Amino acid sequence: MPAVGNVLIVGGGTAGSALAIPLARAGLTVDIVEINPEITALGSGITLQGNALRVLRDLGVWDQVSAAGFPFDSLGLHAPDGTLLAEIPDARTGGPDLPATLGMERPELATILAKAVREAGARTRFGLTVAEFSDTGEHVDVRLSDGTTGTYDLVVGADGIRSAVRGMLGIDVAPEPTGMGIWRIHTRRPAGIERTNLIYGGPCFIAGYCPTGPDTMYAYLVEKARPRETLGDKAAHMRDLAEGYGGAWAEIRADITDPDRINYTWFESLLVDRPWNRSRIVLIGDAAHACPPTLAQGAAQCLEDAAVLAELLLAADRLDQSLFDAFMDRRHERAAAVVEASLRLGAWQLEPTPDADVPGLMGRIAALVTERP
Ligand SMILES: Cc1cc2nc3c(=O)[nH]c(=O)nc-3n(C[C@H](O)[C@H](O)[C@H](O)COP(=O)(O)OP(=O)(O)OC[C@H]3O[C@@H](n4cnc5c(N)ncnc54)[C@H](O)[C@@H]3O)c2cc1C
Repeated sequence: MPAVGNVLIVGGGTAGSALAIPLARAGLTVDIVEINPEITALGSGITLQGNALRVLRDLGVWDQVSAAGFPFDSLGLHAPDGTLLAEIPDARTGGPDLPATLGMERPELATILAKAVREAGARTRFGLTVAEFSDTGEHVDVRLSDGTTGTYDLVVGADGIRSAVRGMLGIDVAPEPTGMGIWRIHTRRPAGIERTNLIYGGPCFIAGYCPTGPDTMYAYLVEKARPRETLGDKAAHMRDLAEGYGGAWAEIRADITDPDRINYTWFESLLVDRPWNRSRIVLIGDAAHACPPTLAQGAAQCLEDAAVLAELLLAADRLDQSLFDAFMDRRHERAAAVVEASLRLGAWQLEPTPDADVPGLMGRIAALVTERP
């Protein structure tokens, strides 16, 4: 018999969905409470590295993901005028039979996961959150925001970087801005763009884009963080920054017209010390660790949390601290290494460092995440 019979997951994003699917398939009763009234996935596109794809394949959704996304195996480095400087093969961190990287639209990923959650038999209740919980050590009594109550063997806080569950557990860790901000647009894919191409330098720290489908891609510009009240016309600002870049950026710039299609956000980071649980309530995903997307490993690390926790819960016959310790042994150091490396890459751009070994750091993280967690 598995260690738990029923589980409440707070947050129906990437981490919460990826945990619900294997648990519900194994016959556990899984309830998700999602604060939004429907599935939403803010942002535009997402770059999924091989180790994220490996978890998605294990979840049985690889066919849908590969049909919806755009796979590629190399990275292009360009000068600000668009000249190709180097073509770097990407490590296949998910194994030789998966692409190194796949770009896709966030709402597509959210829809695929939500369908798998439903088909597995988990129940998602939208527009709801946890108002209160009381952990007896044997179970957790929960009161939801609509006044309904329940009793669960395990509660999982998968409620993202601003996790309410984390606060309710008294874990006093908050996201910290890294000093960088990113402008993103979801746009048409110009002919010939078949992988992520990056420019380091010019008016921004990074100018990049990633294909997400046959006709689509997302493009981004990373600069020093700006106070949100000074953003003004977002399209005009992003277009001005894009003026500094050649190559495909001429076409991208022409599409930067509607401020409502531009997403601006600060880079933030967060790392909760081990353990990520208090008795029978545990944090996973961005609620426990979040990094700026300089390595595009955030969602991969969330998916790995879910996979490892599900495996441990289904293999054990009782839930006690040793299960959470085993979870931490497999997850804490690895997630911390990704957060630290992602921060260091950003710091090297904010404060140019002559001896910064960018390829060395990226290679070490690629080797680390190639190993199964
Ligand atoms: C600018 C940017 C670019 C990024 N690019 C990449 C990338 O290219 N590749 C990559 O791998 N990662 C990327 N990431 C990181 C990635 O988006 C996150 O790591 C990942 O989405 C976190 O998943 P999660 O499920 O833990 O949290 P979330 O995706 O935030 O999901 C949390 C869910 O919980 C819900 N929720 C919140 N509060 C409550 C509550 N109180 N009660 C109930 N529900 C609640 C939310 O509505 C949401 O549905 C990027 C992040 C940023 C900021």
